[in-house]
This record gives sequence, C-alpha cells and structure tokens, in this order.
Amino acid sequence: RRIPLVCGNFKLNGSRSMLEGIAKTLNGASLSSNVQVGVAPSAVHLDLMRQKLRSEVMVGAQDCWTKGSGAFTGETSADMLVDLGLEFSIVGHSERREKGETSAEIGEKAAYATSKGLMVIGCIGEKLEHRESGKTMSVITEQMQGYLAALKEEEMWSDMVLAYEPVWAIGTGKTASPEQAQEVHGELRDWLKTNISEKVAAETRILYGGSVTEKNCDELIKKEDIDGFLVGGASLKPEFVQICQAPG
Ligand code: 13P
Repeated sequence: RRIPLVCGNFKLNGSRSMLEGIAKTLNGASLSSNVQVGVAPSAVHLDLMRQKLRSEVMVGAQDCWTKGSGAFTGETSADMLVDLGLEFSIVGHSERREKGETSAEIGEKAAYATSKGLMVIGCIGEKLEHRESGKTMSVITEQMQGYLAALKEEEMWSDMVLAYEPVWAIGTGKTASPEQAQEVHGELRDWLKTNISEKVAAETRILYGGSVTEKNCDELIKKEDIDGFLVGGASLKPEFVQICQAPG
C-alpha cells in the first residue's frame, strides 16, 4: 500500500512570525505515523522551518535548479537543500510553467534532485480551455514526457511523487470532483504502467491539488488512486491539520 502524503505549498506567502506560528500548530498536532506530512515554504524560510518543525514533518522547496551549484543567479540547488537537511522539492508547478518553464527543463530538475536523494513532487495539470476541448490527457501526457525523458532508469522513480493540479482548480475554490480527479489519477497510473513499469505504476504516489480544504478532503481521499494532497491556501491555516489527518 502506498503511504499517503499531504504537503503544504506556501507559495510566496508568510513572514518569520507567521511561519513560526504554523510550526507551533503542526508540532502540537496529533498526526498519524501512517501519513507523511510536509511543508514547502519560500526559499528564504526553508532553514527556519526545518529548525522549528519536529523531524516527522518534512520540509522542502517549491522549486530547485536543473544542476548543482554554480553561476545561476537567483536559483536554488538540490545540493543546498540537502545541506539544509531538507527532504524534498516540488518542481513543475503550473505557476512556474506559466512563466515559460518547459516540461524538458522540469524533468531535468526532477532527475537532478532525485540523484541527490531528495523526494520530488512533480506537478502536472491542464487548464480550463484544455479540459473543455477534451485535451486534458494529451496536455498531461506531454508534461509527463519531460519526466520520462529525464528519469531514465526505473529506480529513479522511487523518489518521485506526482501531483495532479488542474489549473482551473488552483486558488479558485473550484475543486475537481472526486470523480474528475480519480479519472485523471487512474489514467496517469495506466500511463505509468504502459510507459515505465507495473512496479512504478503501483508504487508512485499521485497527489491531488487545487482548492483542497478540510471540507472536501475526506471525499477525495476515498478514491483509490488519490494518495494525498498538495495544498495551497489552506496549508497556511490551522485547518491544514485536519487535511493532514484525512488519510489517517
Ligand atoms: P490552492 O490549494 O490554493 O488551490 O493551491 C493549490 C496549489 O497550487 C498547490 O500547489
């Protein structure tokens, strides 16, 4: 059975004092040992959060570079994340794809980070216009090609988590219905089976993200191919604890 994972993506939010408050809430919460919980604050708050949070709660970055440290102004390397004692990095968020990041580049980021021992949460997801024109799976398949091309060996997928985040559901309050999410998660698992292996399809966790709240998480987690959540707005609120408890 795949271990459920609930991860908060703080995006470009928070101050030191606000994040210390969140750490206090999570440190005091009763979290099941059968569920992995993580938070991804902005790069400048990573060290603070790793120091404030109990070790059971993972801390990771919202993005990381395709290569090791060097002359890459403004970037963050996986080597630096490892040096801070962090556990993972998100890559390929739609808010970054929107600025021109390509699937190939995102795949390279995932491959480099996994080679350094980080867990990687690779995001994928279609826009409303794609869904409405029946192109959901073709868009997602194109995004998956970036990961497929870079994560060449089957073993490289063992640290890979996928997050299906339909762009139309992000920050809009319009969650995908459990059926809509399950349909894509199921197709993604079939894609992994066909393009990589049965083992990778069975073991890779697929998170759902997009307006997840304490109100809709219980219904979503019941679906067989939804292995947890990537939570934006609600991860900054005390209700995040309830979302972390949903897979329990
Ligand atoms: P919201 O939960 O705010 O819709 O954001 C989802 C998201 O983008 C997480 O990465």
